[in-house]
Amino acid sequence: MPLLKFKKILQKNNWHLYARLPISVRIAAGHAILMAILLPMVGFGIYNMVRRDLLKSVDGALLVSAESMRASKSSEGLVKGGLDQFLQNFSGEREVNAYARVVDLSGNVRNRSTRDDVPLPVSKIAMARAEQGASTFESWDRPDKAPFRQLTMPVIVSGLFTGSLVQVGTPLDATWATLSQLRSVFYLAFPAILCVCVMAGYIMARRALAPVVGMRRAADQLSGSDLSHRLEVPQVHDELHDLADTFNRMLARLEDAFERQRRFNSDVSHELRTPLTAIRGEAELALRRIRSPEEYRSALETIQKESLSMGCTVDDLLLLARAEAGALPNVKTVVTTAEFLEGVAVKASLLGKNKQIQVKVLGAEAPVSFIAAENYLSLAIGNLLSNAIKHSPEHGVVTLACKKEKGDSVLFSVIDQGEGIPKGLLEQIFDPFFRVDSARNRIAGGVGIGLSLARAMAKLHGGNIKAESASGRGSQFHLSIQQAVI
Ligand code: ADP
Repeated sequence: MPLLKFKKILQKNNWHLYARLPISVRIAAGHAILMAILLPMVGFGIYNMVRRDLLKSVDGALLVSAESMRASKSSEGLVKGGLDQFLQNFSGEREVNAYARVVDLSGNVRNRSTRDDVPLPVSKIAMARAEQGASTFESWDRPDKAPFRQLTMPVIVSGLFTGSLVQVGTPLDATWATLSQLRSVFYLAFPAILCVCVMAGYIMARRALAPVVGMRRAADQLSGSDLSHRLEVPQVHDELHDLADTFNRMLARLEDAFERQRRFNSDVSHELRTPLTAIRGEAELALRRIRSPEEYRSALETIQKESLSMGCTVDDLLLLARAEAGALPNVKTVVTTAEFLEGVAVKASLLGKNKQIQVKVLGAEAPVSFIAAENYLSLAIGNLLSNAIKHSPEHGVVTLACKKEKGDSVLFSVIDQGEGIPKGLLEQIFDPFFRVDSARNRIAGGVGIGLSLARAMAKLHGGNIKAESASGRGSQFHLSIQQAVI
């Protein structure tokens, strides 16, 4: 048990050590291990193939000579010189390097070649196989010399075993020399190949990972205040190219978000500073000398009005921040369409009373009821209606339409006959604090967060708001909510 524990600790520590190495070294090490396993395997395979082929050719020669001896009718009666002559004839011009003899089953030698200076054994297996008419190839190891290859073949006449065995043998000197040369080549070549492969693997890994070093340096230069730097995108269209590209797109999004946040912060301070300045100015003016009760009253009324508007802006901002952070409780209920439309239209009519604006409701294509967070939806549509009334001419008509859309969504449209919105600004108007004509809108009481808030409320319902308009020809705002039809 303690040994097992120790082994585990060792493995764990080794792994930590390995994991701390640079990737290029890890790749090279992995490469080295793989090559160290593969190279001996390949070498072993080649060595065995060569050995088998060489033995096969020796065996082929032994078989041909043994068969020729067996075929020779006089093999039994051949004198020493006769077998030598036979081997010489068989070897042709080459030096005779074979041994031959004829033995019986008891091991008595009936005939042998002169060069039979090797005690050729007749193994039990060879004898047993010979009795069954089969030939046997055997290799005999010799101390400090190449092994000896031998073939034992039964002499069969008219299908019957005569009791005589022909044995032909040869030392495997040439084969052994070739194999030992091959082994030497392997011993020298393998370490060299291994070194070259490891070094090549290391250099290739370093080259492949070079862009990562550049990326890290570029990433080091990035800071919260300056996100304008971009990573260098490698020329080759590989994984690192995609990674750098993805990082750059993420940085662009972050830069945009930071910029929006920065703009938002400065807009918030600006919007809050204006009423604060008005409040302070009014208070300072009132306190400069003793005033009449009416003058104090008027100053306090101005202060109250400005602080109320500031309070509304802060409330709206808070609501917007919570909606965008997904922190609003989204409690949905079943809302009766007719009652809902009537409710928001009546509130809007009160706003348009001074300009004698008529608010028309079109609900023929609307579902009887829908599911929504009623407060938030009424706030969104209320903002659209209040904008429509603000931008409508006197005696104008503002239409609030509702219809069931494809699937389970419901579409609310607010249409006015006002001055319209320039085409290029149709998306920008949804940015917080954006106003097409800021001076005019400020007088009208808007700080530019009504549409941002309306869009946030639509998104809370899985929907969105889109604006359509042509300058001078009124505007249409379409607010959709999803999963609303029961
Ligand atoms: P505000 O509180 O200033 O109305 P909003 O976010 O509601 O802010 O609207 C942003 C800007 O979009 C407005 O200042 C106005 O210029 C423009 N706008 C919104 N609704 C309309 C409309 N119905 N007709 C023309 N312009 C509009």
